[in-house]
Amino acid sequence: MADRCRSPDNRVLALKVMADLSQISLLGLDRAELASLVDNLGEPAYRARQFVEAVYRQRVESIEEISTLSQQLRLTLAEKGVSIGLPRIEKRFVSQDGTVRYLIAFADGQSVETVWMPEGDGGEAGDGSEAGELAERFAESVGPSNSSANALPENKAPNAALKRCATQNQRQDQKPKQGQNQGRSTICISSQVGCAVDCRFCLTALLGVKRNLTAGEIVGQVCAVLKDQKVSPPEDRINLVFMGMGEPFLNYDNFVKAARLLVEEVGIAERRMTVSTAGIVPRIYDFGGQAIRPKLAISLNASNDALRTRLMPLNRKWNLEMLMAAARAYPLRTREWITFEYVLLGGVNDGPENAKEVTELLRGMRCKVNLIALNPGPGIEFTTPDADRVAIFQKILREAGVPAFVRRPRGRDIYAACGQLKRTVEVATAPAP
Ligand code: SF4
Repeated sequence: MADRCRSPDNRVLALKVMADLSQISLLGLDRAELASLVDNLGEPAYRARQFVEAVYRQRVESIEEISTLSQQLRLTLAEKGVSIGLPRIEKRFVSQDGTVRYLIAFADGQSVETVWMPEGDGGEAGDGSEAGELAERFAESVGPSNSSANALPENKAPNAALKRCATQNQRQDQKPKQGQNQGRSTICISSQVGCAVDCRFCLTALLGVKRNLTAGEIVGQVCAVLKDQKVSPPEDRINLVFMGMGEPFLNYDNFVKAARLLVEEVGIAERRMTVSTAGIVPRIYDFGGQAIRPKLAISLNASNDALRTRLMPLNRKWNLEMLMAAARAYPLRTREWITFEYVLLGGVNDGPENAKEVTELLRGMRCKVNLIALNPGPGIEFTTPDADRVAIFQKILREAGVPAFVRRPRGRDIYAACGQLKRTVEVATAPAP
């Protein structure tokens, strides 16, 4: 699919919107849109570059702070109601493990949660965590893809490569860990207020969906956290996962535009971003055609249709056959793999028979599996699986040649782990006693 955000229709729409400047937030506008805005104001073209620098690199909070603009222009913009649109950090919850869960509020009073993990999220290749490094080295050791779609190259043995990487990792572990936190930081961002997908093991699902976030609100979460943490890409290596509240592929255009702005203007490397989808099949096909695209993760969570429909009702619409067909057709780049996420629920989807079914589903694919033991929470009917069942599940996958990694939960004590982003929103929006 062509990049929809650059389509003529969208450009015309953007220009129409700019006729009413009081509606304009600079965050979320790309260079072309900023150029239109500058033109609309009768200002020279170089002002667009000044806006980009101030909004995306300096991450200013108000027009008044853009010192490169003349005082008169700042006054004019303020009079016309143009704003930066940087969202406000309403609350911070700091975990014992250093994870910070932010409650971030937007102009209309809605809020989402955004999570800062100083040592990564425990398993994405490129996120800087030990499991992530292992996954990354695994991909490198198996080598680049020669195929246009998702198939494992012949004469490559995933299991042998996995063992090689694990050994290397153990050797690394014995070295002094100087500066070990550098480059491990990951931001987990939300794409919607709430979520409509209704996965039965997810606290966010209990909120329902309130609205989509704009591209500016998605990028704004990142800018607010970078500012608060006093870090700045690309000088600081930051990883990003679209795995917070919401289903990014149900807010597709805004998500795609946000990803582009984060790469082109904020300076976060494309290969350091991962988007997770519950399995919105048509958008998986669309996403494969994007010029700028984060890595793809698919939330699998079940090994057969009956189980997946029970856990993820959207499986009625896009079943495993349709999902796997989209995953197999997905055009992978060099050293790129699809990640499948599998939340293990005690006694429900964590048996050896489930693991064997997963190996059949993924046979021959260039992929890896992240295993996540359920983060329990009130209102969720499932329990955390026993550690030995998790270990057996992982072993079955690995022995079948499927790289599988157990992700360490981050920020469980502050409800910042996977599927737990809901608590502060509820607290913040509850009426005063
Ligand atoms: S797991 Fe993700 S897609 Fe499913 S309900 Fe929760 S936020 Fe939505």
